[in-house]
Amino acid sequence: MNALAATNRNFRHAARILGLDSKLEKSLLIPFREIKVECTIPKDDGSLVSYVGFRVQHDNARGPMKGGIRYHPEVDPDEVNALAQLMTWKTAVADIPYGGAKGGIGCNPRELSNSELERLTRVFTQKIHDLIGIHTDVPAPDMGTNAQTMAWILDEYSKFHGHSPAVVTGKPIDLGGSLGREAATGRGVVFATEALLAEHGKQIKNMTFAIQGFGNVGYWASKLIHEKGGKVVAISDITGAVTNPNGIDIQELHMHKKSTGSLVNFQGADSMDPNELLIHDCDVLIPCALGGVLNRENAGEVKAKFIVEAANHPTDPDADEILSKKGVVILPDIYANAGGVTVSYFEWVQNIQGFMWDEDKVNSELQKYMTKAFHNIKNMCKSHDCNLRMGAFTLGVNRVARATLLRGWEA
Ligand code: GLU
Repeated sequence: MNALAATNRNFRHAARILGLDSKLEKSLLIPFREIKVECTIPKDDGSLVSYVGFRVQHDNARGPMKGGIRYHPEVDPDEVNALAQLMTWKTAVADIPYGGAKGGIGCNPRELSNSELERLTRVFTQKIHDLIGIHTDVPAPDMGTNAQTMAWILDEYSKFHGHSPAVVTGKPIDLGGSLGREAATGRGVVFATEALLAEHGKQIKNMTFAIQGFGNVGYWASKLIHEKGGKVVAISDITGAVTNPNGIDIQELHMHKKSTGSLVNFQGADSMDPNELLIHDCDVLIPCALGGVLNRENAGEVKAKFIVEAANHPTDPDADEILSKKGVVILPDIYANAGGVTVSYFEWVQNIQGFMWDEDKVNSELQKYMTKAFHNIKNMCKSHDCNLRMGAFTLGVNRVARATLLRGWEA
């Protein structure tokens, strides 16, 4: 089942639990607008190359549509659609005044030079600039994109519309980015993990963690877990995987990756098969990379008692069923990784106010939002006798449905 079919299935299940009117259900599922553009750029050697770019704007009942833009070879319309829909429910779960959107370009950013990436980003922005905006649709970084990508979008957009820092979030600090935004998704994952563990009478200290992905999210999540006394016993990324039953020193691993470009040959841990990571012996498993990694093939072998979905859609419905039968508690993506978009909201607010917050304020507000959302999800779980995924979906879908009905959607 692909990401879109799985997301639709979760949505329909939530709609049924909430008893939504079938016409409203259909209307909430269909995206507001789907954009597909061809982006042709000259490569550094002078040859021309074309890439297909997408922006799916899913829903704007609660506010401007919001979501990242990813650069990845596997970007396809169904995946972007699913991720846009997940953003709608995610912003509603976090209770920030946004709808949902997602974008992507089917390219391999590792094979493009910096100037090729800049040209591609500028061409993509030229094609969509009339359809994004501070109060319509606000992009942000995602896989394969970063603060520099947002700076290029901001610059290109501003040529058409005048200086508009709030049109993108996740910008460099020098261009109006927020302190704490870069760490925000990982920090939010840690706040979410703490809320979940507290519910089970546990804390991060002395628990063992396996983390898939050592990019922005995986790095910050593992660093903060390590600082709180948690033992990160295994980490993987596309270059390899390492394990140490006594806990990996994250800062040292980070330095090693910076100097060698990979995780392998790190002195402070042993190498392991990256395919083993998801089934590694640990208390908490945190997938921070691609979607669909937990599936029928490996779910039965998972040893963790808790899974925190830092990636978007890492668990497919087959795995969801197998894991829940095994009693594994899953903290769903639309809550667990909402820290990034929550601090994007703080960045947008600061840009509109023209006033910069200090980092302590950003982090303490983030903690408040993450903790409150967890308790709101738990209340939905209690009222509807459902698991955390359905608790989060019913919370998000219900908020969007209420906003849609209040605005009036039938006329
Ligand atoms: N790309 C991130 C996500 O999937 C952040 C989106 C945003 O900040 O708008 O949640």
